[in-house]
Amino acid sequence: MSRPRRILTFICRTACAAVIALAANTVLLSGTKADQPAKEIFGAAALPAVLPARAIGFYSKGCLAGGMAIATDGPTWQAMRLSRNRRWGHPDLVALVERLSRDAAAKDGWPGLLVGDLAQPRGGPMLSGHASHQIGLDADIWLTPMPDRTLTAREREDISATSMLKKDTLYVDDRVWTPAHARVLMRAASYPEVERIFVHPGIKKKLCDSWTGDRSAMGKLRPYYGHHYHFHIRIKCPPGVSGCRSQASPPQSTGCDSSLAWWFTDEPWAPAKPEKADKPKPRKWDMRMADLPAACAQVVQAPGPASEAQVTFGSASIASPAGMGGSASAFAPPARIPIPVPRPSK
Ligand SMILES: [Zn+2]
Repeated sequence: MSRPRRILTFICRTACAAVIALAANTVLLSGTKADQPAKEIFGAAALPAVLPARAIGFYSKGCLAGGMAIATDGPTWQAMRLSRNRRWGHPDLVALVERLSRDAAAKDGWPGLLVGDLAQPRGGPMLSGHASHQIGLDADIWLTPMPDRTLTAREREDISATSMLKKDTLYVDDRVWTPAHARVLMRAASYPEVERIFVHPGIKKKLCDSWTGDRSAMGKLRPYYGHHYHFHIRIKCPPGVSGCRSQASPPQSTGCDSSLAWWFTDEPWAPAKPEKADKPKPRKWDMRMADLPAACAQVVQAPGPASEAQVTFGSASIASPAGMGGSASAFAPPARIPIPVPRPSK
């Protein structure tokens, strides 16, 4: 080929590649996809984006690149609700959950963790449930200890978690609460990577009233609605991850003060008053692609791995029951806890 022809061919190839790439982006970011709720796009992803691990955006507005699954089974944990396909997280989160499971079993008299939702394979908003859990740095852990046998996939769908509360009260039921619950929670809070842990105000009160050990991490345990069947671990943005937005650190104090007492007054638990807006406000998690950080478009487009096993942290997984993969199960907060307004900041 003559030199001018080679140059022409090169220019054409480069231009064609650019046009194709641009077209792919345009398909993603315009037309139906741009108008489609982001939860539908992220909720449909069965496998993670094969990219360097990166938590992108904020806990309640972002996505996850390079997600890894926690194995369905480990020596000291079992993952629950496998059909939801929310066993995915930043590798640092998965490592932390596994570490907590080992430490709890070895040192706290807690036989192992039942692991609830982490994030979707590519993070992002969900079709049901959580407003957060979007960037692979949040994990729910059941307050029910792991049984001494391997649960079947069906049992992992059907078994109910145990509430720590006395029926119709805001206080812990001493018939279900044990010192081991306190030890696991205080251990989780003690890890420097852990940014905060959400627990029901009744559980926080129980810890404030009964914990006699080191209280330096007590402030990380944040009282919040729900969270009496499970606790929610939130880790900090991993070091060196760009575009991950941290939450302000919780106060240095134990939080066993008037901020906790507030939850036990009548006022905050009053049912929400109907709003007088003309149009219903879009829910926080009805975000569009354009509402998310721009890098989330690449997360949607990136290729997936050849198999789930390739992107599972640690040991082998058991299969989900037929016909249950991918679909999100209905999740509703317990009906007897009214959602008040305004919500205090977490
Ligand atoms: Zn949670």
